[in-house]
Amino acid sequence: MVPEAYDNARKDWDTYFMDIAYMAATRSRCPRRHVGAVLVQGKKLLGTAYNGAPMGVADCSEDGCMIVEEYELQVEDGAERMIKKQRCIRTIHAEQNLLLFTDRIDREGSTVYVTDQPCWTCANMLANSGVKEIVYHRVYHKDSEKVEALMDVKGIVFRQLTPYEPPAQASRNVVS
Ligand SMILES: [Zn+2]
Ligand SMILES: [Zn+2]
Repeated sequence: MVPEAYDNARKDWDTYFMDIAYMAATRSRCPRRHVGAVLVQGKKLLGTAYNGAPMGVADCSEDGCMIVEEYELQVEDGAERMIKKQRCIRTIHAEQNLLLFTDRIDREGSTVYVTDQPCWTCANMLANSGVKEIVYHRVYHKDSEKVEALMDVKGIVFRQLTPYEPPAQASRNVVS
């Protein structure tokens, strides 16, 4: 159901930029995960990016995903267990592509809107990129705790946009 406010109200800036991140995500050719990210300075859009193979290199839709298996520690009801997870490592993550295609000077004090909570590597890079705020929508539990601790130390505002409804044409579910 579409929230009532969307019927007649103009989109607020958070919604506006997150919608653009979701539209960027539709460019991704990895069937496992579609992630989009945008860089915003004030109200100005400075860049958009999505997860994908390097330019000119076969992507997941052409050569299939590049799957690795990893064990991940999960805590459920106080009990720890190792769970085997599959990941596609063919793509450069959206946040990393965003950093590759924007300038350091433009990023100083900027905000990143990203469809998914950043993984540890992306968070670590964003922490050193000049951005002062990261807004995400879908939760990514794996690295959540250490990412939040890092943002705390760095004084970077780190928040989930909720409630939020992605644009219908961009909200296709992906495996986690
Ligand atoms: Zn893939
Ligand atoms: Zn990442």
